Amino acid sequence: KEFSTRENHVAKIRVVVRKRPLNKKELAKKEDDIVTVSDSAYLTVHEPKLKVDLTAYVEKHEFCFDAVLDEQVTNDEVYRTTVEPIIPTIFERTKATCFAYGQTGSGKTYTMQPLPLRAAEDLVRQLHQPVYRNQRFKLWLSYFEIYGGKLYDLLSDRKKLCMREDGRQQVCIVGLQEFEVSDVQIVKEFIERGNAARSTGSTGANEESSRSHAILQLTVKKHKEVKESKRNNDGNETRSGKVVGKISFIDLAGSERGADTTDNDRQTRIEGAEINKSLLALKECIRALDNDQIHIPFRGSKLTEVLRDSFVGNSKTVMISCISPGAGSCEHTLNTLRYADRVK
Ligand code: ADP
Ligand code: MG
Repeated sequence: KEFSTRENHVAKIRVVVRKRPLNKKELAKKEDDIVTVSDSAYLTVHEPKLKVDLTAYVEKHEFCFDAVLDEQVTNDEVYRTTVEPIIPTIFERTKATCFAYGQTGSGKTYTMQPLPLRAAEDLVRQLHQPVYRNQRFKLWLSYFEIYGGKLYDLLSDRKKLCMREDGRQQVCIVGLQEFEVSDVQIVKEFIERGNAARSTGSTGANEESSRSHAILQLTVKKHKEVKESKRNNDGNETRSGKVVGKISFIDLAGSERGADTTDNDRQTRIEGAEINKSLLALKECIRALDNDQIHIPFRGSKLTEVLRDSFVGNSKTVMISCISPGAGSCEHTLNTLRYADRVK
């Protein structure tokens, strides 16, 4: 009972902005830091502009979000602000999603990497609490990627996957491997294995991974008591279980990639169009969710179709918008903040 009351205190949708420090490149170019975080919810972007007669001036843009985290904030604090409050709700049939949105180089992967590990730690600890000890709850992990509108399993040699929907709005990714994880060390190994399998083309790791969405899911399932006779010859009986709740961590493709629709390279154009479509569809779905709309426009993209069951019923969404503080990134930073503002 304690958890159901707590659940109500966690907002259904939260939008958090994280500003990273200036990096070496930006410092070397003596780029100004144009983002000031005025308090825990407000920030200002100082956009350098030129008048027609070429005199310089600054245009100020103010934004307000559920939380704004400045460059001093550690990953640990990010976890505590974004994911930690949701953890107890996972045991109360909640499907939660945590997104990292932003241009390439803004800190999405840096922000996202430690979160599932911390979440797994907390989930495993909860599983062992006296209230849950006799419930046969287990934690499962899967990790896949959406690249050019196609799904690949990052934990089984990038096997291509397809999606199916059963009659009860449950999305099923056919063939996706799920692994039971009973301790945090195993979770760490799976994450590292999955990361190593992310799209890396001839152009270099960050370049390619910035064109894909990586989705890591932690699922709590309730398992039936298995009779001794069954346990030996029916592997499915032991593997299957009823989903209690889950949390998905999504390292989105670089938001600027959605603009690659006029690139000379045909493949890049196709990928750009797909990314653009998925980020727009995501925004629409979250807005629909926020307005308690009955019709959620999942069909808009592969990403939102995959997330369909996370947008119905009890759901929690945290969007972490990552921004670069350098003057050179001003346009992308404003785009990211405007996107986040629309989602809110
Ligand atoms: P993205 O995934 O959005 O392309 P990354 O997470 O790879 O961006 O970050 C780009 C670089 O900036 C990396 O070298 C990363 O270590 C560094 N970085 C990002 N965010 C922070 C931060 N908050 N503090 C310190 N370094 C950061
Ligand atoms: Mg990245």
